[in-house]
Amino acid sequence: MNNKGFRFPWLALIIIMAIYAVMLFQARNNSTGVTAQGIEHFLQEPAGIQNVVINSSRENSTGSVNIRYDGADYSSTLTDTDRFAEKLDAAGIDYTVKLDSGFNFSDIIPYVVMLIILIMLMRMMTGGKAGGQMMNFGKSRARLSVNNELNMSNVAGMVEEKEELKEIVQFLSDPKSFVDMGARIPKGIILVGSPGTGKTLLAKAVAGEAKVPFFSISGSDFVEMYVGVGAARVRDMFEEAKKNSPCIIFIDEIDAVARRRGAGVGGSHDEREQTLNQMLVEMDGFSPNQGIIVMAATNRVDILDPAIMRPGRFDRKIVVGKPDVAAREAILKLHARNKHLNADVDLKRVAQTTAGYTGADLENLLNEAAISAVMAKKSDINAKDIEDAFIKTGIGTEKKSKVISERDKKITAYHETGHAILFHLLKDVGPVHMISIIPTGEGAAGYTMPLPDKDDSFVTKEQLKHMMMAAMGGRIAEELICDDITTGASQDIKQVTKIARAMVMQYGMSDKIGMINCDDNGDDVFLGYDIAHNKTYSDEMLSTIDSEISRLVSECYTAAKEMILQHKDVLEKSCALLLEKEKLSGEEFAELF
Ligand code: ADP
Ligand code: ZN
Repeated sequence: MNNKGFRFPWLALIIIMAIYAVMLFQARNNSTGVTAQGIEHFLQEPAGIQNVVINSSRENSTGSVNIRYDGADYSSTLTDTDRFAEKLDAAGIDYTVKLDSGFNFSDIIPYVVMLIILIMLMRMMTGGKAGGQMMNFGKSRARLSVNNELNMSNVAGMVEEKEELKEIVQFLSDPKSFVDMGARIPKGIILVGSPGTGKTLLAKAVAGEAKVPFFSISGSDFVEMYVGVGAARVRDMFEEAKKNSPCIIFIDEIDAVARRRGAGVGGSHDEREQTLNQMLVEMDGFSPNQGIIVMAATNRVDILDPAIMRPGRFDRKIVVGKPDVAAREAILKLHARNKHLNADVDLKRVAQTTAGYTGADLENLLNEAAISAVMAKKSDINAKDIEDAFIKTGIGTEKKSKVISERDKKITAYHETGHAILFHLLKDVGPVHMISIIPTGEGAAGYTMPLPDKDDSFVTKEQLKHMMMAAMGGRIAEELICDDITTGASQDIKQVTKIARAMVMQYGMSDKIGMINCDDNGDDVFLGYDIAHNKTYSDEMLSTIDSEISRLVSECYTAAKEMILQHKDVLEKSCALLLEKEKLSGEEFAELF
């Protein structure tokens, strides 16, 4: 993939070396070659001779001579150096003799350089980076770190995540007791989260904590031009890991290999499937207690092939979210440990103003501040440096982690609480698992996560209504508190419309229409086809459908608003709490009632 990027420096290097080789040759050849007679001629007029060097071989009397005559260099081969020396003595000319063994290292340098150039050219011709790899076909590129110093104390925040990984650490440091007990430990764990949230760090810390080797490789390293190379690398990597077990294999960007099979664009299709298949074969191949834990990271679980999530493969999923305000403070403190901070820096305050920043962003923020302190020749980092770094990094990463204004935060807090109150009160949809006003990477300003405790296969009419009401809660809360409403509810409105339409047109849940399917566009009303395009019913029916949909929506709206109004105190309290902590657990929220 990045072959081109790799070729350029090689090419430059080869050119430089070629020039060097040519220069070396020239350096050797800039003395003019003369015959023995020519030399005799110089001896006739010794006044012009400035310097004479006889190079004589040890074994016999042959050799050569270098003469500087009138400022120019001449050289000649000699069949008998001793006789030549006698002649010089006779003429009273000074000279030096260099004995050499016939082998002179500097003589072979140009040839060595030429040879290197040749090898490089051959490598390039067989296809650059990948071609070079052909020589050690299939060798895995996994980097192994045996004694990594990281442990769980280097990971700030992430309380739940660390808790979940505790048993893995335990297992790796003492697999035997697990085997004896007959316990089965997951083979694969998938870490899901945006870039920079500390997935690699977490995996490495698990290895460090358990004091086991850590193999790391990126999914994109498996995807090569040649079919079969990726699969061979996977095989090789697992082979290597088995030799070093217990250990951790960490696969970053697993989506590069484990994309849904048969989907996706691009040429290296077969290659990726083969690689993925090989990975599945390997994972099925080792026994759960062999002491290898495969950890993989991605921020796109939705595009992963479902096969890799099956039991016995990556059957454990840990979501590594963006840090909340407390976690941000912890991360800042951790990275500030080796920095000189002025007393005027309040890390708590910094944490409060960096909603949406990942761990990597925060680390970067402090680093920028440190750099600007050094540039200004200050002895420590003060609040102003942090402020500057904040602007610098805030603007640079505006898209990925936009800084949220106080006003937006407040609106989001009300909006999410609105949803949450209804999730809590409506037994068919709740209870609330988590409320957050930390922006997600996908553009949502926050989220409320319900945790339905039932797993029914049929959805009732009542349930659908409750879903609609819960979806409306956000906008209703905005209406009740703020002077104006925002565009933040567009997703919710879409959801409400979707449900209402399906109830009327698909599920026969409207008395006026009855059990008639008005949905001719296949099973999916959600794709947004225009009904008018595919009309198999009368205009009259169409207007009834419309009025039924709006009747349903407005009924739900009135009921939902009523409920929120009754719990306006909860709305206020929850909002205040959210602004302070950014994240509320289901229990914390339930306590407000
Ligand atoms: P990811 O693998 O999710 O892209 P990394 O693990 O590479 O993220 O994180 C990049 C850097 O960000 C880490 O090396 C570390 O300096 C910092 N970082 C991220 N999360 C944390 C955290 N929870 N505690 C401390 N440092 C963190
Ligand atoms: Zn909403």
